[in-house]
Amino acid sequence: MSTSFVIAGAGAVGLATAEALLRQGAAVTVLERNEVGRESSWAGGGILSPLCPWDYPDAVTRLALRGMALFPAWAERLLHETGIDPEFEASGMRVFAPLDMSSALAWCGSHGMRCATGADGSLLLPEVAQVRNPRLLQAQRAMVERLGGRIVEQCAVQKLNVEGGRVRSVSAGQGDFTADGFVIAGGAWSSQLLGELAAGAAIKPIRGQMLLFKFPAPPLPHIYLQQDLYLIPRRDGHVLVGSTLEDVGFDKSTTDEARDRLVQRAAVLLPQLADMQPVRHWAGLRPGSPGNIPTIGRHPRLQNLYINSGHFRYGVTMAPAGVEILLNEIEGREQALDVSPYRWGQVADETAKRI
Ligand SMILES: Cc1cc2nc3c(=O)[nH]c(=O)nc-3n(C[C@H](O)[C@H](O)[C@H](O)COP(=O)(O)OP(=O)(O)OC[C@H]3O[C@@H](n4cnc5c(N)ncnc54)[C@H](O)[C@@H]3O)c2cc1C
Repeated sequence: MSTSFVIAGAGAVGLATAEALLRQGAAVTVLERNEVGRESSWAGGGILSPLCPWDYPDAVTRLALRGMALFPAWAERLLHETGIDPEFEASGMRVFAPLDMSSALAWCGSHGMRCATGADGSLLLPEVAQVRNPRLLQAQRAMVERLGGRIVEQCAVQKLNVEGGRVRSVSAGQGDFTADGFVIAGGAWSSQLLGELAAGAAIKPIRGQMLLFKFPAPPLPHIYLQQDLYLIPRRDGHVLVGSTLEDVGFDKSTTDEARDRLVQRAAVLLPQLADMQPVRHWAGLRPGSPGNIPTIGRHPRLQNLYINSGHFRYGVTMAPAGVEILLNEIEGREQALDVSPYRWGQVADETAKRI
């Protein structure tokens, strides 16, 4: 591929897109408003699966399952080629009641996902894996740089300059950048960044708060999930507890209320937490989208403008699959999946209003 791309946004999705384009031989510049990988991708839990996959439409599980299938080799490549370990681990996820066991078992059966019921009415999904987000992002950055990509931080894209049905350049904090193709991977900011070019891509911030605890050794054998509350044990004894789902705009502040509620619910699954103080409490802004379905592909009118955004709750899980779809579209290759739900311009205005 003897072309050049500018990517707006250096989260997990923008960096994964950059890596894939670089591997195809493109010249890639990634423009990041702040620092690399400090927004939603940093804030997330790194569970590589939808929480209760049986609760989601096919368009979500298809992309998630493809991402889950691609992840082990990707994580291994990142570790091998950068020396930074994203701590990919098939730790398994135990889902506690209340859950719709018959739907869950039927879904696992029809999607080839191993599962085992527990005497306590829980369901173990032993294949569900996790990564440690900050390390994944460090490895992704190192990989992009190793492949010759250019990353420009403190450089917000402010305007897309359109001429003759194409984007000619973007005006950004450190000047104008020209390229053959442009990819918007601005997470929760993607629709705002596109302005009148959003063309139905209805992505908005949905805040998630997270707590971090530290134990001398991992206190849980698996990720624990109860409804939308999860506990994620890391290798070094850290445990993440998350998360909230709040429609509060671009506000990343944390609240005592959310902290208390998360601790109270988490202590049902891990009673020691009731007497512990979190070592950290933060919030991130997910790129919320209708139905949790991202927009991936070419702009409906501008032939060299692409988007890869709106992965909402599962952008880390879906990252390798979304990139595969985008690269197939850019290269004109046949898609391995039905990609119609992700097409840009697919979301009707009415649906957009409902998120
Ligand atoms: C609390 C929480 C828990 C989560 N847990 C999970 C989980 O367990 N598993 C999972 O798969 N997903 C999880 N997610 C969701 C996941 O983190 C996101 O879907 C994913 O990180 C989105 O990646 P992104 O690269 O699109 O966005 P981001 O990581 O937000 O990256 C977008 C980047 O674009 C930059 N940007 C914005 N505007 C501009 C501009 N104008 N110019 C240049 N740069 C710009 C931003 O600064 C940012 O760095 C969680 C999210 C949160 C908040």
